[in-house]
Amino acid sequence: MNITSAKFLTSSPSYDKCPDLKMHEYAFIGRSNVGKSSLINMLTGNSSLAKTSSTPGKTMLINHFVVDDSWCIVDLPGYGYAQRSKEDRKRLEIMIKDYILNRPQMTNLFVLIDGRHKPQKIDLEFFDWLGENGIPFSIVFTKLDKLSSTAAKKVTGDYLVSLLERWEELPPVFRTSSVDKRGRQAILDYIQEMNLLPIQTE
Ligand code: GDP
Repeated sequence: MNITSAKFLTSSPSYDKCPDLKMHEYAFIGRSNVGKSSLINMLTGNSSLAKTSSTPGKTMLINHFVVDDSWCIVDLPGYGYAQRSKEDRKRLEIMIKDYILNRPQMTNLFVLIDGRHKPQKIDLEFFDWLGENGIPFSIVFTKLDKLSSTAAKKVTGDYLVSLLERWEELPPVFRTSSVDKRGRQAILDYIQEMNLLPIQTE
């Protein structure tokens, strides 16, 4: 699949203020600074769509982008940003989880993991929560251009092996870099396939 247009639609403070759309929605989430904005811009071919920032963890809003007037990318706020206050972190967690549980048109959640890092408790707990709630999700390893191809295979492979200690099977996995654009076509093709499914409305 190729993308012709991608436009910012709106920012919402909570799931119940999100736009009333009958479109497939694909949400992207990860720890602050994981490379989420860069990935969204790489996928859409629009380098200024999602705001990349050197000050991670600033936005606490749910951002909707409409792609080719027919489906949506949703940029969820980054979690696990240590410099937020405890109250802000709690508020953010509730906002994210409410969106995930109450947005039936969210067809898939892409969870981004920095490809250089070992499994972190906060991500593993989040994966477990997604599994317990039956949320369809995929794992996206980011920034793999920062590793040699051997190291990228080893680190991401080790990560998946450690997940298999907790689960019987793995969700779909994508290996990406916003710099060399690897993984772009695979994610877009996956979205294209899911766009053929009926849109859930409740
Ligand atoms: P976000 O906070 O998750 O939205 O992360 P950003 O997209 O703003 O990226 C955080 C930092 O990582 C920025 O300095 C980006 O330039 C850098 N970055 C993001 N993706 C990649 C990537 O694929 N490769 C490399 N080398 N750097 C990246």
